[in-house]
Amino acid sequence: MVKSKSQMLKIIGMRKKIAKERIQILFEEAEKAAKKDRFELADRYVELARKIGMRYNVRIPRELKRRFCKYCYTYLYPGKTAEVKIDSKKKVVKVKCLKCGKVMNFPYVKRR
Ligand SMILES: [Zn+2]
Repeated sequence: MVKSKSQMLKIIGMRKKIAKERIQILFEEAEKAAKKDRFELADRYVELARKIGMRYNVRIPRELKRRFCKYCYTYLYPGKTAEVKIDSKKKVVKVKCLKCGKVMNFPYVKRR
């Protein structure tokens, strides 16, 4: 069956929406696993989320990007797999991955 272009785009859009939701859920699961000290499991969820992102060409939302190491993809859990420092001069949050030792800078998220 030949589908029109607009139908195809609609299907792609729906798949992307589902992919985004799945990524969100996987990060929620990763957080739950990390809270139980199950970091290997948390890393697996991160890996799955990244795979979904790649397959469906969906970007991982910015707020979730700071939850894993961009170098070794370890789930970053402050005090356990990550060291978090705030640099008030540069207005960045410095997150050090305790697995590979790399430091990532994230701009401040202002809270009300
Ligand atoms: Zn790392």
